[in-house]
Amino acid sequence: MSGPTPRLIDSHCHIDDARFSADLSEVLERARRQGISMQVVPAVRRDGWQHLKDLCRQHPQLHPCYGLHPYFLAHHREADIAALDHWLSDTPCVALGECGLDYLRKDTDRLAQRKLFAAQLELAAKHQLPVVLHVNKAVEDILLMLADSDVRGGLMHAFNGSEQQAERAIARGFKLGFGGAATYTRARRLRHLLSELPLSALMIETDAPDQPPASHHGERNEPAFLRDIFAHFCTLRRESPVQLAAAFNHNARSLFALPDDPFEQHD
Ligand SMILES: [Zn+2]
Repeated sequence: MSGPTPRLIDSHCHIDDARFSADLSEVLERARRQGISMQVVPAVRRDGWQHLKDLCRQHPQLHPCYGLHPYFLAHHREADIAALDHWLSDTPCVALGECGLDYLRKDTDRLAQRKLFAAQLELAAKHQLPVVLHVNKAVEDILLMLADSDVRGGLMHAFNGSEQQAERAIARGFKLGFGGAATYTRARRLRHLLSELPLSALMIETDAPDQPPASHHGERNEPAFLRDIFAHFCTLRRESPVQLAAAFNHNARSLFALPDDPFEQHD
C-alpha cells in the first residue's frame, strides 16, 4: 500500500464484551494507533445497555446501538421490549440492534425469535432508527419481515447470503457488512460478493471479539485487526485503498449519522 494509511470506521464490534474488560484501554489504544477512527458498538442484552452507555460516555469514538440479540433468546423477557422503547426515548444511539434471527441451532424457538424481532422492527420505525441485523441461516425470513415493516434501512452485519439475496437486501435499502470471515481463502462466495457488489452497499467490520481474520486465526479479535481485514479487501477490489476507505467510511457515517473525522483523507 503506498501513501499514508487511510483511516477506517469499524462498523460493528462488541468492545463492551467481558472478554475486553481486563485490557480495554490497551485494545482501544492499539485501534487508535492503527487509524481506526470510530467503532459502532451494538448491545445484545438489556443487562448490558447501561454498561455500553457508560463506555460510550468515557470513549467518544464509540457509538452505541441498543437491542436484544436473537442468540440470547433465553435471557430476554417480554418486558424488555417496553424497556427498550423507554430506553430509546431518552438515550442517544446510532441504531437499534443488534437484533435479527439466528436459525443455526435446530432447537431454537423460531416463532419466539420472530416475535422479538418484529417488536424491535416496530420500535426502530417508531424511533426512526436504522437497524443492525444479525442474520444466520435466516435471510429469507428477514427479507419477508423487512418487507412488512416501516424500517427504512440498516446494516446486515457479517453478511453470509447468496448474491441474489444480497441484491434484494440492497434494493430494500440495506448495507452489507463484511469482516474476518471473508479473509479466508475457502470463503469463495463471500469473496466473490465482496469483489462484485456495488461499493455504495458495503461496510467493513471486525465483529470483535469474534470472527478474527485469517491473519489472527484462533485469537480474540479486536478492532485494530480491521487494518488486516481492510488490506485483504483491497486485494479483492479494483478501487484504490483511499477510495475504498472513503466509501466504507461514507457508508457507515451516513447510515449511522456519525460525526466527521477531521483526520480522514479525501481525494
Ligand atoms: Zn455482533
